[in-house]
Amino acid sequence: TFSVEQANKIMATQCPFCSVQCKMEVVEDLSGSRPAYQVTAIPNKASEGRLCVKGMNAYQHAVSRERLLHPMMRKDGALTRVSWEEALEAVSSRFTELQTKHGADTIGLYGGGSLTNESAYLLGKFARVALKTKYIDYNGRFCMSAAASAGVKTFGIDRGLTFAMSDIPMAECIILAGTNIAECQPTLMPYFTRAKDNGAVIIAIDPRASATVSIADIHLQVKPGMDAALVNAMLKVIVDEKLTDEEFIRNRTKGFDAVKEHVSSLNLEEIADYTGVSIELIRKAAIQFGKARTGMVFTARGVEQHADGHMAVRNFLNMVLATGKIGRAGCGYGAVTGQGNGQGGREHGQKADQLPGYRLIENPDDRAYVAGVWGIDPNDLPGKGVSAYEMMELVHGGTIKGLFVMGSNPIVSNPNATLVEEALERAEFLVVADMFLSETAKLADIVLPVSAYLENEGTMTNLEGRVLLRPAGRSAPGEVRHDWQILCDLAYSLGKEQYFPFRQSEEIFNELRVASRGGIADYYGITYDRLRKEEGIYWPCPALDHPGTPRLFGERFAHQDGLAVFQQVDHQSPAEQPSEEYPLYLTNGRLLSHYLTGVQTRRSPVLAAREIENVLEIHPLTARKHRLEDGALASVRSSRGTVIVRTKFTSAIREDTLFIPMHWGDAQNVNRVTNDLLDPNCRMPDFKTSAVRIQPLAEY
Ligand code: SF4
Repeated sequence: TFSVEQANKIMATQCPFCSVQCKMEVVEDLSGSRPAYQVTAIPNKASEGRLCVKGMNAYQHAVSRERLLHPMMRKDGALTRVSWEEALEAVSSRFTELQTKHGADTIGLYGGGSLTNESAYLLGKFARVALKTKYIDYNGRFCMSAAASAGVKTFGIDRGLTFAMSDIPMAECIILAGTNIAECQPTLMPYFTRAKDNGAVIIAIDPRASATVSIADIHLQVKPGMDAALVNAMLKVIVDEKLTDEEFIRNRTKGFDAVKEHVSSLNLEEIADYTGVSIELIRKAAIQFGKARTGMVFTARGVEQHADGHMAVRNFLNMVLATGKIGRAGCGYGAVTGQGNGQGGREHGQKADQLPGYRLIENPDDRAYVAGVWGIDPNDLPGKGVSAYEMMELVHGGTIKGLFVMGSNPIVSNPNATLVEEALERAEFLVVADMFLSETAKLADIVLPVSAYLENEGTMTNLEGRVLLRPAGRSAPGEVRHDWQILCDLAYSLGKEQYFPFRQSEEIFNELRVASRGGIADYYGITYDRLRKEEGIYWPCPALDHPGTPRLFGERFAHQDGLAVFQQVDHQSPAEQPSEEYPLYLTNGRLLSHYLTGVQTRRSPVLAAREIENVLEIHPLTARKHRLEDGALASVRSSRGTVIVRTKFTSAIREDTLFIPMHWGDAQNVNRVTNDLLDPNCRMPDFKTSAVRIQPLAEY
C-alpha cells in the first residue's frame, strides 16, 4: 500500500461483478518501479460502503498483461494483429457478402448482461437497423428470463426487486429460494442479517446448505427441480390454515379461486415424498410466512434455471399475492439478478422479442414508436428472433452463418457446451469483441479488443432498478475501443452512420431515454446530470422532475386493469430424472471469488488463487458408494458430455445431488454436461437438473 498523496490517479467507479453495483475508489500509483493499486469502498445508499473480495480485486483483470490491445484477424490459421481499418472492413464486407447470398437473417448477434445500458441499447439497434437481422439475444437469457417473464405475467412489469434494498430489514419473514447471496452478491447479506437481528424468520429453499443457508431458521432441502411442487404444498397449508389475505386478494388480484381449488385438492404426503421435504417442515415454513405481517420472497437461478422455471417463479408470486405481501414496507418479491447489469441489460433491446423500454417487437404500436425514434420505417424492423441457446442451434445447423459476440463467452455459458463448441467451429464467420482471448474468442475469425469498467463511462442498473452512472477513470490501453464505439465504427463501414452518430455514451443514453419513454422501463426522467448529483434513480422515472420509484405496486399493478394475476401451477417433475445409467442429480452455480465464465476473475491473481480449479461438491456417503476419494479427480458424465473435476466432500449437499460451479472452460466446463431442455414459456435452459453418473478419473 501507499499513501494517497503519492498517487497519480484516483478513479471513482463501480464494481463490475454483480448486480449490487458497489461504488468504490481505485487509486493507481504509477510513480514507482511497478504500478501499485489501492481499493476502498465509497459509502452510498446501495452497498452502504461495503465491498466483497471480488470488488476489492476487480482492478486486477483491468490491468492484466493478458488484455487484448489491438484487433486480430485469423490468417493462415492463426490470429494475427491487424489495424482497426482492416478489421472493420473485413467484418462489414463479410457480413454484407453473407447477407447478400443468404438473406439478412444469416447473421446473429449475441450480447451480454455486463454491458452498460448504452452498449446493450446500441447492440439491439445495430442488429435491427444496421444489419436488419431478427437474430439477437444475450447471455441474460440464462440469468433472468424465467423471473422476468413471470413478473410480466403476474404483475405486468419485470423489475428485479419490487422494493429498495433498504426495505429488507423491515420484513418479518423472508424466503430465500435457490439463491446463494452470500457468495454471489455478498454485500447484500447484511440487509438480511439486519432483518434477522430485528427478529425476522428466514426460510431457505435449496438442495445445498450453502453459505447463505447458514443464516436460515428453516432449511427446506428440496430435490432439484421440485420448487413449484413445494410451493403448492406451502400454499395448501396457507389456504387450509386460513392465512390468506382475503381483502388483498379481492381488491388487488384475479384468478385466486382456481389456485385455491387446485392446491386444496393436493396430498401433502405425496408432495413431501417427491420434493424430499417433510410435511412438518413444509407446514412450519408455510405458517411462518403466512402469519407474518410483512414478508418477502427472493428467487434466483436455483428456482429459475429449470424447464419449468417460469411456472416455479409464478407459484412463488402466487404465495406473495395470496398473503398480500407486496406494495408496502417490508413486503415484496425479488429476483436476485446475477450479472453486473443483469437488470438494465434486459430492458433496452438485446432480447430476441424486445425493443428498448421493454417494448415488444411484435406489438405494432411499440414498433411504430421505436422506429420513429430511430428514424426508420416500422416495416423495416425485423421480427422476433430466438433465444440464446436456440441461436447456437441455428449456427450449428447452418441457418446462421455469421455471428457477432459482444461481452459474452457462449462456449462456457450455454448448456450442452459440446454442441455450442461444434456450432462455433462450424460458423462461417465468427467475430468476438472481448477484453481477453476467451474460450469463444480463441475460435473467432476476428477479435476486437474492448475497454474495461475502469475505462468505459456508462450507466448500469442494479438489481433494485436503480440506475447508476459509472464514470471512466483511465484511458483505454493500446488500441482498445469501447463496445459502443465499435458498433458505431461498424455502422460507418456498413454505410449506416447516420443512425449511429454518437461520440459519447451520454448521447446514446439521451436517445435511450426517449426510446424507453412511456414503456415499462421508463428512463425518460433520468439524465447524466441528475445521476451525477443523486445516488442513483429508480425506474420508472417518466419525467425530469420525477423522483423515481423505489417501491412498486403500492396502489395498482402494471396490468391495464391494475390487478395482479394468479396462475394455477401444476406439478411438473423435471424431464431428466436419475436412472440406472445416470443415477444422480447434478446442479451448478457460482463461487465467491469468480464471476460468470471466469474470463475476468480467472485473470485476477488474487481471485484465481482463492479458487484455482473447478470442484465437485459431493456428499461423503455418495462418494464412498462411487469409490471416490476426497480431493481426487473424477469424471462426471451425462448423456451430453463429460466434465473432469476434483472432488470436495461436504455433508451440506443432498446425497442424491452433486454440485459443480460454472466458472471454468474446456475439460472443467460443467456445461458440457448440463441439460439443454428449454422452458416453453421463456426459453430458459434446464441447467439445474441434469442426470449424471460419476467415477474416479482413473476408471474413466
Ligand atoms: Fe459488490 Fe457484487 Fe462487486 Fe462484491 S461482486 S463488490 S457485492 S458489486
